[in-house]
Amino acid sequence: MWFNPNIHPFEEYENRFRSLKKYEEENEIEVIYIDEYGLKEFLEGTSKSEERCDFCLTWRLEKTAKEALKRDHDAFSTTLILSPYQDHERLKHIGSRIGEEKEIEFIYEDMRDGFQEHHRLANEMGLYKQNYCGCIFSEEERFKKDLLQV
Ligand code: SF4
Repeated sequence: MWFNPNIHPFEEYENRFRSLKKYEEENEIEVIYIDEYGLKEFLEGTSKSEERCDFCLTWRLEKTAKEALKRDHDAFSTTLILSPYQDHERLKHIGSRIGEEKEIEFIYEDMRDGFQEHHRLANEMGLYKQNYCGCIFSEEERFKKDLLQV
């Protein structure tokens, strides 16, 4: 499922969206799209939250769980379990809490070992690859670091 209102600015959102569309078409898989560019809601939500990633992950995983329930699925998960840049304890905690609240299983498996292979395959398929997590804050953190190293 695509639900990524945390990806900014719009050009980045579009690049990642189109990349998934391309993958879907070339691999004959079915993707559910909730196409909401959510900069305003994201900024409102994070300004009221002590931890922006808690707000962001909760927002996205709650939506995923709701969509899974709507479709009578008995579990939900996230592609973030592949990322070595995510805080996996936080991810597990939030996903499990939502699963308990909504009575649907959250599937967590540490898939970070597959990250390099994922990159290799993305290159091979000519898919767009992100350089930062998604929000404008993570974009600043990513590139500011590079600037200081020059
Ligand atoms: S760093 Fe990533 S997980 Fe955290 S708020 Fe930004 S987009 Fe969301």
